[in-house]
Amino acid sequence: MMKPIEAFSSSYAQARAKFLAAAAEAKLAVRSHLHPLPGRDGEELAMDVVLDGAADAQRMLIVSSACHGVEGYCGSGVQVYALHDAAWREQARAKGVAVLYVHALNPYGFSHVRRTTNENADLNRNFHDFSKPLPVNEGYRSIHSLLLPEQWPPNAENDAAIAAYVGKHGVRAFQSAVSGGQHEFADGLFFGGTAPTWSNQTIRQVLREHGRSASRIAWIDLHTGLGPSGVGERIFACKDDAAALARARQWWGGNGATPITSIYDGSSTSAFLTGLMWMAFYEECPQAEYTGIAMEYGTLPFPEVTQALRAEHWLNKHPEAPPAQAKQIKQQMMDAFYTDTDAWKTQIVAQAREALFQAVEGLSS
Ligand SMILES: [Zn+2]
Repeated sequence: MMKPIEAFSSSYAQARAKFLAAAAEAKLAVRSHLHPLPGRDGEELAMDVVLDGAADAQRMLIVSSACHGVEGYCGSGVQVYALHDAAWREQARAKGVAVLYVHALNPYGFSHVRRTTNENADLNRNFHDFSKPLPVNEGYRSIHSLLLPEQWPPNAENDAAIAAYVGKHGVRAFQSAVSGGQHEFADGLFFGGTAPTWSNQTIRQVLREHGRSASRIAWIDLHTGLGPSGVGERIFACKDDAAALARARQWWGGNGATPITSIYDGSSTSAFLTGLMWMAFYEECPQAEYTGIAMEYGTLPFPEVTQALRAEHWLNKHPEAPPAQAKQIKQQMMDAFYTDTDAWKTQIVAQAREALFQAVEGLSS
């Protein structure tokens, strides 16, 4: 039996090796979708897919990591642990639920310690019909140049201007402006892109390959960076549909200690968003009843996470930055999305494991 802390890694290459080794040990085939670019250390990048169960199973659970690259340090650990978890695998098998592990939806960001894809896109804002007009984020437009000043760290004048914006509009409006997604500034934060990214196209292919025969499919997409440290908030990740919300609440929110929150009623720590990844599910697997959540694990307080994102985007725009500063910013980024302590990792695995068992129970009910 693997200890939870052994399932986590400190680089993408190590995480991928652990995932592939876990699949081999479980005697499961891996389908690797290779990314066109190399990783931080020159390693191969891929979205690796493993199906544990029958290809024609009527019930399927998707478990995915690294939608937001750097958040994969957490999600990969959950997946590696699950593949080593004999009791979990046996329970899914007994209930007739096939489990599809999608490791590193955005391997580029995972390896390069970025939240975004190689296109600087936020994958979870990238699922739009790009033939139609894209949403406009006026709030972001008004603070883009403040968020990414010429020099880093920002000077006192910049800090004061940001504080004035928050003072005038409130923290929630600031969060919404920053993280709501924007399609106007290709070098900016939470850029949703102007075309489908590699990761968008590839996850669609995975959904078509594996998701077209099941009649009921659930999806747990693993994230980090919002909410109290170590707490896995379960955020409803479906269309604004009352029946799906009722299912999600019944499956994952039953004991009241872990309510399902929603971007539709303002109860989630996440702002209201468009272009979300699971939108693709309805298009690629229209035959299935769909129930999904994002598990959003807290790391550091929101201001620190925002500051790390600003710094890392600034660095991406300023490759001439001194190596010591670049290193410090990447470490700040890691700390913002992955808490490298035994206690945090143990909490992560325990809550994920509960949600996995609940998903299987729900799918087979
Ligand atoms: Zn995320």
